[in-house]
Formats: sequence, C-alpha cells, structure tokens
Amino acid sequence: MQTTVYYTHKSFLMHKMGNDNPECPQRLEKISELLFASGAGKFVESKEAPMAELVDLLAAHDQDYVNYLSRTSPDEGIAKINVDTAMNPFTWEAAQYAAGASCAAVDDILSGRFQKAFCAVRPPGHHAHRDHSGGFCFLNNAAIAVLHAIGNYELRRVAVVDFDVHHGDGTTDILGGREDVLILDSFQEALFPYAHIHHAPPNAVYSPFPEGTEGLALRKNMDEVWIPRLVAYRPELIVVSAGFDAHREENQAQLLMVESDYAFLGRRFAACHEFIPSLKGIVVILEGGYNTSSLARSCVSFLMQFASPSRRDGLQPV
Ligand SMILES: [Zn+2]
Repeated sequence: MQTTVYYTHKSFLMHKMGNDNPECPQRLEKISELLFASGAGKFVESKEAPMAELVDLLAAHDQDYVNYLSRTSPDEGIAKINVDTAMNPFTWEAAQYAAGASCAAVDDILSGRFQKAFCAVRPPGHHAHRDHSGGFCFLNNAAIAVLHAIGNYELRRVAVVDFDVHHGDGTTDILGGREDVLILDSFQEALFPYAHIHHAPPNAVYSPFPEGTEGLALRKNMDEVWIPRLVAYRPELIVVSAGFDAHREENQAQLLMVESDYAFLGRRFAACHEFIPSLKGIVVILEGGYNTSSLARSCVSFLMQFASPSRRDGLQPV
C-alpha cells in the first residue's frame, strides 16, 4: 500500500515571472523527471491538486490582498509585483492550485487516507504575508494548510517546520503568536528576507546558521532542537516548508548541505510517528531551491526516505 500522496498540477508549469527569474517551471520538471527515473515514484500515489476554496485563502490572507492579486493578474504579458515577484496570465490560477494542493493533502491525512503527503507546487509560499507578496511567493501555502486543518478538524496543536535556507517571514507573520501553532525555522543568517533579526514571536524557535555551515550542524539541529521540541509539543499535524536551497551548489545562499543531509531529514520526518503518538500525519510543501539540478537531486533524496513504505526500501544509510 502507498502511504504517501503526491500532489501537483499542470498549471504550475505555466506560471512564469520572466526569462531571468530563477523561480521557473524547470524546477518542477526536473523533480518530476528524477522522481520517476530514480524509482522513487513507486513510493507515491500521484493526484491532481484541486483549486483552493476562497474561505481557505481568507483564513490566512486579507480580503483586500486577495482582491489585489485577482485584479492584478494580467490577460497577457507580465505584471510586476515587486523587484523579484511578478505575475503572468497563469500565476493566479497556479497560486490557487498550490494552496489547494496543501489543503487537499491535509484532508487526505486527517480523513485517514494517507499518513504522509508531498506537494510539488509552485509558486512557493513562505514569504507571502497576510497582506503582501514577496520572494517569489503570493499565497502562503503552509499557513493556509495549517489554518485549514485547525478550522476544519478542530486540531489543537499543529507544528510548522521550515528548513528552507531563507527565513519563513510570511509564515511567522500569519501564524506568529498562536498557541495552537509551533513554528520551527532554520535559515542562513543575514540573508533575505532579514526580518528574523527583528522579531521572533513566542511560538517560534529560530535556528540561524552562519555562512559556510555544513550539513552536520543541520542534522544536529534536527535531533537536538526540533525533535525534542516536537516531542514536547505533541502536534497532531506537522506541515513542512521544504526548501532545498541550503544545498552547496545553490547560488542563492552559502550553506553547504548535500543530498544525504536532505535524505536524513526525510528519514527523520518519516519516523516522527514513532515518537509523537499524537501525530496524525505530515504534509510537506515545496518551497525554494533554484539550482534545478541540485534541487531535483535533493528533493528526490528527501522523498526516497520520506515516502518509502518501509525502512528497508529507503536509501541506506543516511
Ligand atoms: Zn528559500
């Protein structure tokens, strides 16, 4: 039996922000190619993402902002939102399917159909604030998933774990201060979006890493900070913001992760059920990763471990 559902949608390949923008359709094309070429595709059940319900968008974002995105969506060409973020005629649709994938994954887990979900989506979401876009993000897929779970299934404790190399400032903006949410966020110090320097809400634990940090430190952070925090918090659901841009081949940042470090994270997340009895499941949502080759290798290394139905079938060892 497959235990991991894999959501994606063809609209994610239509959203483009101009020829020079690294947040491009090839990111998902490479992941998809390698997923099935590697054999890891047999560990997942692929499903087409539904479009998000408006009520789910409005749980995380202001009505005026959602109206702004709808109104700004161009009929042709590119509509610039800010220096790094832009819309083409397919962007608004893709953003709503990305949010829809995240909510559908929550539904699949909390209805008992699956224990694990991976959402291969773009645009990413963790820099999207309640009332503005930024960093290639429009709708905060992770925050929307969390609030969908709390609103529809009456969950009392949901954890967000963000291992993208950039701080998830939008997620903190939307979910910061809530007692029913725990935010665990690792990122490179003094890197975009810089907001973490000023503010850490009481429900967030930040793990900043200096430039040049090796994967061992990130693994230790998982075992010595994140897992003890998760065990103590006893979440019913974990939503993971999975960015693979801490890889050493990534030119957006200066951390030194390699594929086996992501495999390690995938293996640990897959094992969370064993030490968190309250946990009903884990929803992993793709965030960053802009070197398309290292992104695909890292993401598939993660998935081989995360999605494998048994320890024996996963890549060994990490
Ligand atoms: Zn990032």
